Amino acid sequence: MAGILIVEDERVVAWNLQASLEKLGYTVAGNITSGEKAVDLAATLTPDLILMDIRLQGSMDGIEAATRIRERLNIPIVYLTAYADELTIARAMATDPYGYLIKPFKRTELQTTITTALRRSQLERQLQMSEARFQEVAANLPSVIYRLLHRRDGTNQWLYISPSFQNLFERDLVSFQQGGEFIQSSIYPEDVSSLKESVHAALETMQPLKWEGRIVISSGQMKWIQIANRPTRQDNGEIICYGLIEDISDRKLTELALQSQMQRQRLLTEITKQIHKSLDFHEILTTTVTQVRQILQVDRVLIFQLKSDGSGVVIQEYVDPAFPSTLGLQFSDRCFPSKCYDFYFRGQSQVIFDTNQEDLSNCLKSFMQHIGVKSKVVTPIIQHLEDLTTVSSTEENTLESSDPRILKSQTVKLWGLLIVHACYAHRQWKTQEVDLLHQIASNLAIALQQSELYQKLQQAKQQLEHLAKIDALTHVANRRRFDEYLQQQWQRSIREQRPLSLILCDIDQFKRYNDTYGHPEGDTCLVKIARAITNAVQYPADLVARYGGEEFAIILPNTTEKGAVQVAVNIQEQVAQLQISHSSSDIKNYVTVSLGIASIVPDENSSPSALIATADMALYQAKQQGRDRYCISG
Ligand code: GH3
Ligand code: MG
Ligand code: MG
Repeated sequence: MAGILIVEDERVVAWNLQASLEKLGYTVAGNITSGEKAVDLAATLTPDLILMDIRLQGSMDGIEAATRIRERLNIPIVYLTAYADELTIARAMATDPYGYLIKPFKRTELQTTITTALRRSQLERQLQMSEARFQEVAANLPSVIYRLLHRRDGTNQWLYISPSFQNLFERDLVSFQQGGEFIQSSIYPEDVSSLKESVHAALETMQPLKWEGRIVISSGQMKWIQIANRPTRQDNGEIICYGLIEDISDRKLTELALQSQMQRQRLLTEITKQIHKSLDFHEILTTTVTQVRQILQVDRVLIFQLKSDGSGVVIQEYVDPAFPSTLGLQFSDRCFPSKCYDFYFRGQSQVIFDTNQEDLSNCLKSFMQHIGVKSKVVTPIIQHLEDLTTVSSTEENTLESSDPRILKSQTVKLWGLLIVHACYAHRQWKTQEVDLLHQIASNLAIALQQSELYQKLQQAKQQLEHLAKIDALTHVANRRRFDEYLQQQWQRSIREQRPLSLILCDIDQFKRYNDTYGHPEGDTCLVKIARAITNAVQYPADLVARYGGEEFAIILPNTTEKGAVQVAVNIQEQVAQLQISHSSSDIKNYVTVSLGIASIVPDENSSPSALIATADMALYQAKQQGRDRYCISG
């Protein structure tokens, strides 16, 4: 039951009032006659309601007493008065009374007024509690809750901003709220226009707004925030947005880190593909420096190859045109004491923020200054020798050599270094960047290894091909090569309408030579004759081939019959000069040759085999006519 305090100086009225109240079921907490007493007792009794007469005995009237009480206590007050002038009513109203009873009043009036006052008081208390709860939640929420009014004239008014605003934006809430601006002045300049667009779109379409962007707070720190709000249009056409501003820095940084990690992975895959696509040594190096420069945005990228004597040379470089090039520069081993190799052999990179401060050899330090390096990263290019030894036995030998590039205990070879320079400004290298360089260097090492293997393979193949076309005994071209070359020159002569000559050259009475001196001497003789014939021809396009046992063929492109005769005479002379004894010969006492010459300007109606047959016929004639001579076909 509510306890009611009666403040009434007319005793009869007071008793009647008390009786009525009790009849209505209320408890009377007290019944007093002066304003001063009311102020005192209100605090100790804390009644649910005070019925306050305006005119009281003593110096304090009811209105003043009510004002004092309301200043400190939230107790509803209902005024009682018999009559009142305008001024008194105005004073009473200013104290926000819960009711106003004019004496005399009926019991039902009393009841209605008290019930209404108590109900209002109860609702107010509930509202206050709920408001307090909301304030508590809002104050403890890391996010900012707000209500913002967008007027039709384009101005804004903050209806509410929760206290966490001060933490998030590091700005004074009150002065900000009064300023009436949105949060543009805190937004990171690059993000302002995107926020404006989003807000504009939300207000135009009345769709919820969701925006992510950066703010810069007074300490200069940058934060990522998310703004989400829902606009609602009022009857008067104004729009109120209920919104939330959240600090999403942690999430965003993780997201960004993940993104850049993914991007790096993509770039690495790309560069790896590019590097491995080529087996060409220089293309691999060029691709690497170009890509590294693009990915890391550095001012110089260079690839430094170490040599077996401990010196090294810059074999590939990209450099910003503002700085000197180092391409082709050689460095002696003095610049690289063995301790730096230990470091690199362990696969470690050297990450240097300030080349001036670092403990580098003087030679290297002054060089760094000369070429304008402020910060740098040096990553070793390491090859694994197991892979190399299977291919090349010479590499295997280096394991026992004093090659400083090879670490004895391990099968690791320091091929060289991949180096990046920052020249315009000092650069704090990120771990991910160094990791990336590492991965590129590993890929580069493999690609270079593959390229080296490929080159060796190519050489071996060429050697094999060469061997397949060479006569093993005399080392001039063999029959296969002869056929192939004759075919080529034939086609070419047709195209260019030029003469082509062929000489067949056969050693005279060679069977007898073998019989006399033995087969091995016969072989030696063949080698000498082959060399003599080779000496006798002049032009690079001429080809000497062993055509059969003791028979040679000479292809003379772009040579007329007259020129071929000249070559035949030369051959005879060269052979004669050899003066190889041939005691059983019918012709001379030394080895001689017979030659058949055929010349043609080839066309579609003739053929290489016809040319050979003609030359063979001429050779036959030379033999018939007594050997040691040449004959011309026809
Ligand atoms: P001709 O003057 O008519 O050419 O008489 P020839 O004895 O030179 O000709 P023939 O065709 O009767 O004999 C060729 C000889 O060349 C037979 C063979 O023993 C010899 N000969 C062929 N190839 C080789 C070779 O690779 N080494 C040696 N030592 N002799 C060979
Ligand atoms: Mg012969
Ligand atoms: Mg013969």
